[in-house]
Amino acid sequence: MSAILQEPEPKTLPRENGSITDVTIIGGGPVGLFGAFYAGLRKMSVKIIDSLPELGGQLSTLYPEKYVYDMPGFPQVLAGALAREMTEQALRFEPQVCLGEMVLKFERDPEGIITLHTQRAQHRTRTLIIATGAGAFSPKRLNATGVEQFEGKGVYYFVRSKAQFEGKRLLIVGGGDSAVDWAMNLADSAKSITLIHRRDKFRCHEESLDWLMNRSQVETILWHELAGVMGGEQVECAEIFDNRTQEKKTLPVDAVLLNIGFSADLGPVKQWGVRLEGQTIPVNQYMQVSDTEGQLIPGVYCAGDVAAFPGKLKLIATGCGEIATAVYHAKTVVDPSVRFTQVHSSNMEL
Ligand SMILES: Cc1cc2nc3c(=O)[nH]c(=O)nc-3n(C[C@H](O)[C@H](O)[C@H](O)COP(=O)(O)OP(=O)(O)OC[C@H]3O[C@@H](n4cnc5c(N)ncnc54)[C@H](O)[C@@H]3O)c2cc1C
Repeated sequence: MSAILQEPEPKTLPRENGSITDVTIIGGGPVGLFGAFYAGLRKMSVKIIDSLPELGGQLSTLYPEKYVYDMPGFPQVLAGALAREMTEQALRFEPQVCLGEMVLKFERDPEGIITLHTQRAQHRTRTLIIATGAGAFSPKRLNATGVEQFEGKGVYYFVRSKAQFEGKRLLIVGGGDSAVDWAMNLADSAKSITLIHRRDKFRCHEESLDWLMNRSQVETILWHELAGVMGGEQVECAEIFDNRTQEKKTLPVDAVLLNIGFSADLGPVKQWGVRLEGQTIPVNQYMQVSDTEGQLIPGVYCAGDVAAFPGKLKLIATGCGEIATAVYHAKTVVDPSVRFTQVHSSNMEL
């Protein structure tokens, strides 16, 4: 985290060109979506740009059919459903949405206008909020016989829909929360579930472990890894081996779900000239971003998983708070006459 830096004096930016947006948010994940809503609430013109073909970020891409239990107001909600609700909220003030566009770089001219370059277009904006999460996500691939060949034909890294495992004999590979959570989530749709893990203990929440070992029908096999998958058009069986003895056994399965983690890459963010700390962007208390020399970049903010500061939590609820802060301060840059004024949505005519 950077030292606590002072917010620079805002200056009036040119507003005459209708093609310049008040705030552009890079990233249409839950944090970017809430930011779009909040900026609309503050009567700013808004644009969201995301490299993915759909809104929702990690919620839609990584775990749409998992329950989220820690969103205020939702005792439990499927991540995909939460993404849809947040999208509806984000679209309330009709922001421009540019999907399938990866922001490659941006620059700020002497007038304070920021130009973003994507592979398709240039976007001009008065302020910018970077909400790129962990960047481009990709699952860690397993280099075992047949895995690549059967990807999408019985071998999966993501669960797009629980229906894809309906009535299937499912092998889940992995020992972390994600693997165990999927076993829980798919227990009522799969015909049977076998969970293999290469170590002697699962690394998951106590409650999930209790369910797995004492209350579920899931067969757990420790010290085992996947040697390969075989079949015709689709997966028909999997070969697993004991990594202590190398002894192999064959399991008849219809589907294999690989849950051995994700690697994330900030991608082009590294070329943007903003100060980075590992895979994150340090921010001050206004969620402002610095350049590589440590100088604040006026009008550029950051929120959500990609933002770093002491005490940071990577959660949807806290990211939404961060982007609300960013929007409030961006508003004072777009319209310095506003300064910093706190308003409540319940006091507003919507
Ligand atoms: C399996 C799992 C379960 C989780 N469960 C919970 C939970 O129960 N509760 C909770 O609070 N949190 C949970 N989280 C964490 C939560 O999903 C993240 O904190 C949240 O998604 C962060 O939101 P974000 O908008 O900052 O980033 P993301 O959701 O990562 O969205 C970032 C978006 O930016 C886009 N992007 C990145 N780079 C560019 C670029 N250069 N140009 C254009 N677009 C770009 C990406 O495509 C992506 O859509 C979980 C995470 C995982 C992986």
